[in-house]
Amino acid sequence: MNDLSQSVIFGRGPENTAYAQFFVGQSYLNMISLEQVVIGNVTFEPGCRNNWHIHRAKSGGGQILLVTGGRGWYQEEGKPARELHAGDVVHIPAGVKHWHGAAKDSWFVHLAVEVPGEGTGNEWLEPVSDEEYDKLP
Ligand code: MN
Repeated sequence: MNDLSQSVIFGRGPENTAYAQFFVGQSYLNMISLEQVVIGNVTFEPGCRNNWHIHRAKSGGGQILLVTGGRGWYQEEGKPARELHAGDVVHIPAGVKHWHGAAKDSWFVHLAVEVPGEGTGNEWLEPVSDEEYDKLP
């Protein structure tokens, strides 16, 4: 399903300039909630993905992805990539190195729920190489 208009539920929002340095390709970020629990709607153009990263926390923390459209990927270091479609839910524990993003031929949209915790912060690492990414269907 490559039609982005079918995926827009919360609104695409502006270009994700704040985190562009940690992404390959163009993404868009619409902050849905800045109270109680922080939730962002992230839209990835085809081929766009974020760098390997770790959601750090002293306690609690981590991230939940709620997929609303398109086709994409989630991968934890040392594990096969998991293909994602609308309705999929990904629970990402704090401390786990991973990336998420679009398939090469599809837009991809997910809500990113920042799980509250103590001492939370993101550690951004190296990009997912074209060699790794291009192996994915
Ligand atoms: Mn993440």
